[in-house]
Amino acid sequence: MDFITYLQERLLRELPEVVKAYPGDLDAEDLSGMETAVRQMVHELGNAVLQAWLEAQDEPYPADTQPCACGEVANYVRKRRGMTLTLHGRVYYRRAYYVCPHCGGGHYPLDARLGITPGQMSAAVVKLAALVGVQDAFGTSSDLLAQTTLLDLSPNSIRKACQQVGEAVMATEAAQLAHSQDLEAQQAHKRATDKPKRLYGSVDGFLAPFADGWHEMKAGVWWTLDAHARCACAGITWTPPMRKPSRTWCGRPGLRCTPTRRKN
Ligand SMILES: [Zn+2]
Repeated sequence: MDFITYLQERLLRELPEVVKAYPGDLDAEDLSGMETAVRQMVHELGNAVLQAWLEAQDEPYPADTQPCACGEVANYVRKRRGMTLTLHGRVYYRRAYYVCPHCGGGHYPLDARLGITPGQMSAAVVKLAALVGVQDAFGTSSDLLAQTTLLDLSPNSIRKACQQVGEAVMATEAAQLAHSQDLEAQQAHKRATDKPKRLYGSVDGFLAPFADGWHEMKAGVWWTLDAHARCACAGITWTPPMRKPSRTWCGRPGLRCTPTRRKN
């Protein structure tokens, strides 16, 4: 049984007894107040669990030495406190710190193993902040995040998250573009017997009357073909005034596709 399942089962087992043994008044004023209080408690409980779990990752008695990135050996100095900004707020924890006498560099093996950048947002926070940040202004996104997840991020942190994810996407796209232009990769692609599925796309624009006048709308569809040349569709229509897909649908197995040509 993994740690979180074990913890959850233990807490749930104890819960009825804890409620029964509460010496105070259990009366609540309304459901909204109860929900808000429970949400805040779960947020703080999650923070405490993360801290305890993080600290349990490190050996109680750390090894005297650790390999250093320079190829030499780093020596144990002491345990140092670190902070990472998680989905459950700022989590403080202690972990072993090593310094290499050869290159002078210091490092935390635990942070390296878990992908923690001390003092920074965790990868999960960056992902969530960027997801919210691309939908609206950074200030509004900050409020939305605080309301929905209790995560207190400044508009500047959300901007940083958007930039970080944007740079990663651009790097991936640049790598894909370079790969698509690579002659060897193109030849290997041609030789491959197991051909990748082809994704077809068709997008067009048209004018449609709305209550406030005519608007240009875009409509598009994406689809793949199965072995019998039947459509396995994932479609989408897109309207610029609404700034998001107005309708999506997927899966229309059995529909036979007839390629159509646009008439101009
Ligand atoms: Zn070193």
